[in-house]
Amino acid sequence: MSEQRFKAISESQKRHPIAIKEEGRRSDLFAKNVFNEEKMIQHLTKDALESVKGAIFSGSKIDRKIADQVAEAMKAWAISIGATHYTHWFQPLTGSTAEKHDAFFDLLPNGRALEKFGGGQLVQQEPDASSFPSGGIRNTFEARGYTAWDPTSPAFVYDTTLCIPTVFVSYTGEALDNKAPLLRALHSVDEAATAVAKYFDKNVSKVNATLGWEQEYFLIDKALAYSRPDIIMTGRTLIGGAAAKGQQLDDHYFGVIPQRAISFMKELEKECTKLGIPVKTRHNEVAPNQFELAPVFEEANLAVDHNLLLMDVMEKIADKHHFKVLFHEKPFEGINGSGKHNNWSLQTDTGVNLLSPGSTPMKNLQFLTFFINTIKAVDTYEELLRSSIASASNDHRLGANEAPPAILSIFIGKQLSHVLDELEGVSQGKLSPEEKTELKLNVVGKIPEILLDNTDRNRTSPFAFTGNKFEMRGVGSKTNCAKPMTILNTIVAKQLRSFKKEVDTLIDTKNLKKDEAVFNILREYIKTSKRIRFDGDGYSDTWQKEAKRRKLSNNKNTPKALQVLTAKKSLDLFKTMKVMSETEVRARQEVELEAYILHIQIEGRIYNELVYGHILPTTIAYQNKLIKNVTGLKEIYGAAHRTLSGGQLAIIEQIAEHIDALKKTTDAMTEARKKANKLGDTHKKAMAYCENILPYFTEIRMHCDKLERLVDNQLWPLTKYRELLFIK
Ligand code: ADP
Ligand code: MG
Repeated sequence: MSEQRFKAISESQKRHPIAIKEEGRRSDLFAKNVFNEEKMIQHLTKDALESVKGAIFSGSKIDRKIADQVAEAMKAWAISIGATHYTHWFQPLTGSTAEKHDAFFDLLPNGRALEKFGGGQLVQQEPDASSFPSGGIRNTFEARGYTAWDPTSPAFVYDTTLCIPTVFVSYTGEALDNKAPLLRALHSVDEAATAVAKYFDKNVSKVNATLGWEQEYFLIDKALAYSRPDIIMTGRTLIGGAAAKGQQLDDHYFGVIPQRAISFMKELEKECTKLGIPVKTRHNEVAPNQFELAPVFEEANLAVDHNLLLMDVMEKIADKHHFKVLFHEKPFEGINGSGKHNNWSLQTDTGVNLLSPGSTPMKNLQFLTFFINTIKAVDTYEELLRSSIASASNDHRLGANEAPPAILSIFIGKQLSHVLDELEGVSQGKLSPEEKTELKLNVVGKIPEILLDNTDRNRTSPFAFTGNKFEMRGVGSKTNCAKPMTILNTIVAKQLRSFKKEVDTLIDTKNLKKDEAVFNILREYIKTSKRIRFDGDGYSDTWQKEAKRRKLSNNKNTPKALQVLTAKKSLDLFKTMKVMSETEVRARQEVELEAYILHIQIEGRIYNELVYGHILPTTIAYQNKLIKNVTGLKEIYGAAHRTLSGGQLAIIEQIAEHIDALKKTTDAMTEARKKANKLGDTHKKAMAYCENILPYFTEIRMHCDKLERLVDNQLWPLTKYRELLFIK
């Protein structure tokens, strides 16, 4: 066994769970480190409080004097709980978060020290932004971008730093981050949904999109993870044969959580609670060492921030517990990968979940309105929604028979399918009083408040209705939820806006009553969006064929999936809904394609290192051992002895074949990369990486994994799956 592997295994075997001190009730700890409304009431003057609340609920501007007051109060509070630094916390297009810490500390001209943090620092900052991806929006020579305070997501103290959630924009106003477009999308869905919700309740003045994510992840012992260059550099194992025991016994799912993992989770949950992340559920997932964490749902912008913060906190706490946490969508071959379901709904400021059936026909008509409009929106923009979850790592998962396919479809269950079928039969134009009664009492009125049918979940569906929310299941475990949430809320906003216009036109021109008009339009939507509804097995081949017949997109890789972003239909959508300008969309497409290329490029380089630096030398060393053995046997028995024709010689030959093929394939892969790198056009280059380079990876891996079985376990340099995957 290589020294590295041996050391890592012995180190990992010595680990014990770290005892975590309990600190009273969760609810007492909740949001202790967050500058939320409760703290604002304590620390702000009435004027300042009203002004911040105005900014949160109606997007009004906070003037500079008030900002100074808020900054002063925030600083005092933060210092009182141990903060020494502050940072604008933002989401550049890299997909994760960025921060640059500054001390509160400042020097006065007379050399005396002072704790300084004013409205200016709170509201706006100018990080040196030249190294963040901008997709060409900002030339590096004029690398000016600034971060601006997002008062709708409360500031928090993490460790000893006051973190202020911000958007990141260029000086010419373009968004350089994932948060700004999300905020715009949430604003547009609020506007459109409020207008429609007013048909049913005049008191509604705001609608919030809600998001409840479910984060899947793997925990690997730190020493073992560091013994594998591929895990450290790419987040996944590029080679490695399946362990004899994987997930086939289904004994990990919902099983007893290993002690070491439990103590990690306890500390993580404690930290999350202090940071105001309402974590609720933890359990083992399907694959060994795989777990899930889910919070109570929140307003979407806050939920997105909380998910990003969680991933960050998780990495830090995992490190303390001698774990490496893997968010990669497919870290191991042969066992399940990780996703992040996005549960989504719309909620009014009167406390009503618009996707929840109610106790009266009118409430159910409201439910059906939002339900059917969402279906229609996804049908119209299915390809765009799919593009929002595209990434090099998620490509391994989508369509891999453990995760939904790359085809978007909606599962609504038998009960609701039946309701939609009945509604489809509504006659056009005015309804007779009998028809209306029939509809209201026997169709709409019969939708029960709790949809039992939806407990029979179709796990193969990428977009499923689960009783009072939709669940988007294709999102990758690493993905910033802001991306799918921006698209989903934008397309629903656009759809609701069109719906309102159509209903109002029917009321005005055909003299229909409001509910008649609503029924009429919904009926049309049910008819025209039928192809997106699919309740069958999403993993089956027949569905691939059927989806093709229905003209649903099936973009199996990222470069293909991203193309739709700049289609005229998408650009028009973003422009009309004021979510992104054409420049911003093009920049994002460019950044995503670049990221895809770089990802695969790094993997290619690591393959090269692994093959030439680890696999070939070890294999040749073992082959030499066998050759020496055969030569010895020949000396003893003579070359013609019967035992010398099979056995060792056959192994030597098999190994020789793999060595030869491995070298040829690896070299061919490197050549293909050189060729791809010469392509100027980013899309063409990404396609070349996808079509001409990725196939070599599969082949290289196959040879390495075969060799892993042939070569002496004692010599094998890389920690094996059976050693990586079973923490105690
Ligand atoms: P499960 O799907 O595991 O049976 P639940 O249905 O309770 O469990 O919810 C799963 C996830 O859905 C949780 O993260 C929860 O916060 C989220 N969720 C529940 N209701 C909503 C809602 N109205 N909007 C958004 N997310 C929601
Ligand atoms: Mg779920």
